[in-house]
Amino acid sequence: MTIQYAHYYANGAFHKAEGAEAMPVVNPATGDLFAVVQPCSPNDVEHAVRSARSGFDAWSTSSIEQRRTALTRLSSALAARSEEAALLLANEMGCPVWLGKLMQLPMPLKGLEFTIAGLDQITWTEQVGNGLVERVPCGVVAAITPWNFPLHQIVAKVAPVIAAGCTVILKPSEVAPGAALLFMEAVHDAGLPPGVVNLVWGGPQVGEQLVSHPVVDRISFTGSTQVGRAIMASAAQGLKPVTLELGGKSAAVLLDDADLDAAVPAVVRLSMANSGQACVSQSRLIAPKRLIPEILERTKSAMTQWPVGNPLDAATRLGPVATQGQFNRVRTMIERAVGDGASLIQGGLTRPEGPEQGFYVAPTLFSGVRPDMEIAQEEVFGPVLSVLAYEDESEAATLANATRYGLSGAVWSGDRARATGFARQMRTGQVVINGAPQNLATPFGGWGWSGFGRENGRFGIEDLLVYRSLHGA
Ligand code: NAD
Repeated sequence: MTIQYAHYYANGAFHKAEGAEAMPVVNPATGDLFAVVQPCSPNDVEHAVRSARSGFDAWSTSSIEQRRTALTRLSSALAARSEEAALLLANEMGCPVWLGKLMQLPMPLKGLEFTIAGLDQITWTEQVGNGLVERVPCGVVAAITPWNFPLHQIVAKVAPVIAAGCTVILKPSEVAPGAALLFMEAVHDAGLPPGVVNLVWGGPQVGEQLVSHPVVDRISFTGSTQVGRAIMASAAQGLKPVTLELGGKSAAVLLDDADLDAAVPAVVRLSMANSGQACVSQSRLIAPKRLIPEILERTKSAMTQWPVGNPLDAATRLGPVATQGQFNRVRTMIERAVGDGASLIQGGLTRPEGPEQGFYVAPTLFSGVRPDMEIAQEEVFGPVLSVLAYEDESEAATLANATRYGLSGAVWSGDRARATGFARQMRTGQVVINGAPQNLATPFGGWGWSGFGRENGRFGIEDLLVYRSLHGA
């Protein structure tokens, strides 16, 4: 039976969406229709915005304890839905069930934990001479999210809104809407006051209505650089601050004393997981020229550990890419990389063995990639890894920084101090040293074309606060 996403959420209740053209959600493993999204009409969006505005008056003056209770209840309500979330993500965007269970739900729960902890780490008021400096909620936030880690991205935006005392209208991606419905059911079960969290369904038009709406005070967007640019231009008309979490072209740099046994499989994992559809995907491997033959052999071998298959199958490591459009884009970029002179070592346009239908791309490895090639410059968002060679460490840093993006990166060395020194030369919002686990309490965000603003823990809350000085208070 086809799932219907037909109810938006405003004033603490679900309402039938009345938008015009229903949007199909296609299962990328089969190409079959899985669900249908009924978009919101302009009136529905207006209803949700007004709900957020009226909810703001009470929530902006709520106590830290009330916010902590709301977030704690939300966390429990979400945790109860983990099995359901993993299955939805497999069917809607092809994320293998193992990855869903390992990351797609645990990550948002961890994020919530650090947001709750952040409540106690913020200096909410400070006396400066005769001035009382307060940090107050910025107002009504429009949160627009993508499909690749849909629940994580929703929580990364909505949890700090709740913590900051703001209210929000969430517009999730139309590609993988299930996570958003599941999230709103958890919000409802958690008993949050009406108007604090609201949900609308729709595509770019609904997003545009939110961004330009005069009642919306601030925009928080995660998605492509292209759409981020359009949102910033529109928000400028209303002089609205924006947080933009955009695309990436992250580099993993292997210094000449790196432990290749640890480094190569880790880089392959971070370029292949979720079929390469992660903003922090390590899609460039930058390695010493003299080690390239050995590194290519090791990378080819590590890629064999990523068999392609149906995301519902426990043995599958790599599912399909999420949409027909994504499939076409990845294949076109592979074709153009070959045309630009990159050497195709593995994968490419040949359909991977196994599945006979669906949007599957084989794990693909290029070497001989030059920094001016499109494959070294542009985000692929597919299971494609490009190897670039360097002569010395200074060239390695130049190559790592040779894109307009600056979201994430990695460096590997047998000497941690040396790796840390190299990491400081990388112009990215975060650098992973020797495969350290991601720390969701630290600020997350980009430089350059990867956007600006920060999410996670107290930093995500601070992003939504403004200073107010009371002289003589
Ligand atoms: P997208 O930019 O196509 O869409 C993102 C969201 O914006 C969707 O909800 C979409 O409906 C909405 N939208 C589209 N056009 C709009 C417009 N004109 N006005 C308002 N809203 C509009 O991105 P996507 O394909 O969903 O996601 C993939 C992209 O997201 C990749 O580039 C990826 O790198 C990026 N991403 C970044 C981060 C990060 O934290 N930096 C995390 C995940 C994904």
